[in-house]
Amino acid sequence: MKIIVLMKEVPDTYGERTLNLETGLAERGAGEVVLDEIGERALELALAQTGSIEDLDITVMSMAPESATATLRKALAMGASRLVHIADEKLAGADLGLTADVLSAAIRRAEWDLVIAGNLSTDGSGGVLPAMIAELLGVPHASALTSVNITADRVSGTRETDSGIMEVSAPLPAVISITERFPAARFPNFKGIMAAKKKPVETLTASDLGIDPESLDTPRSIMLAVSERPARSAGTKIVDEGDGGEKLAEFLVQNRLA
Ligand SMILES: Cc1cc2nc3c(=O)[nH]c(=O)nc-3n(C[C@H](O)[C@H](O)[C@H](O)COP(=O)(O)OP(=O)(O)OC[C@H]3O[C@@H](n4cnc5c(N)ncnc54)[C@H](O)[C@@H]3O)c2cc1C
Repeated sequence: MKIIVLMKEVPDTYGERTLNLETGLAERGAGEVVLDEIGERALELALAQTGSIEDLDITVMSMAPESATATLRKALAMGASRLVHIADEKLAGADLGLTADVLSAAIRRAEWDLVIAGNLSTDGSGGVLPAMIAELLGVPHASALTSVNITADRVSGTRETDSGIMEVSAPLPAVISITERFPAARFPNFKGIMAAKKKPVETLTASDLGIDPESLDTPRSIMLAVSERPARSAGTKIVDEGDGGEKLAEFLVQNRLA
């Protein structure tokens, strides 16, 4: 089975993140960059099929700046077979529609049975890319899964909502997205890191995929304005002088929190 895992490089969740107020894009050079944890979990799910699925072959695919290859190599060290990296400066600032066009064009030219993505990236947080890709590929999409079972011709799983648990199933080929409920990914070991150096990395541009990012064939969303989140104001400190409970209740009522 051929699985494609969609992974993205993001600014380190634990580090300082800054927004370029002119372009509205994340300042990628401002701090550490890492593989998005949700993407790592998606790869872990694919790797966990080793032994239960015949002829397992895992491709990691990413549309990211050229500098991201170093970060993406971690996925090869974890156990993916190859990396397809769409790196094209013309794609900087791509909206979700263009990203979906590019990734689905790259998926279409590969052999594949299942695409696994995260349900929501840590930085862009659009949360719709896997659904858009499934639509463009004309295949079923099972979103926000909290458990997954993959067989030779089907994928099934559960999606938890506020009101209950849904069981979903789709024939392959299909696109699925998973949530943070999946286990954290393995650390690459020394053998994996050495093996990664010899694994194939294919770098593509938008024109390799027959896409002209500057053409306006399809309407694109345009960022009109961008502003920084206001600094947090100091919180309210309630000192308990025997009436702490009352003060707390008063605060909750005043702020419509109770
Ligand atoms: C040169 C260049 C510069 C870029 N700069 C930025 C930037 O500054 N900020 C930014 O947020 N994005 C940047 N991107 C990436 C791209 O524009 C976004 O990834 C895209 O808009 C997706 O939005 P999202 O993260 O909200 O998607 P979501 O719908 O939240 O993502 C859900 C899932 O889809 C998959 N996915 C999402 N994006 C990608 C991707 N690019 N490649 C592979 N899988 C993916 C992951 O599995 C993810 O968990 C850049 C891309 C290029 C080529």
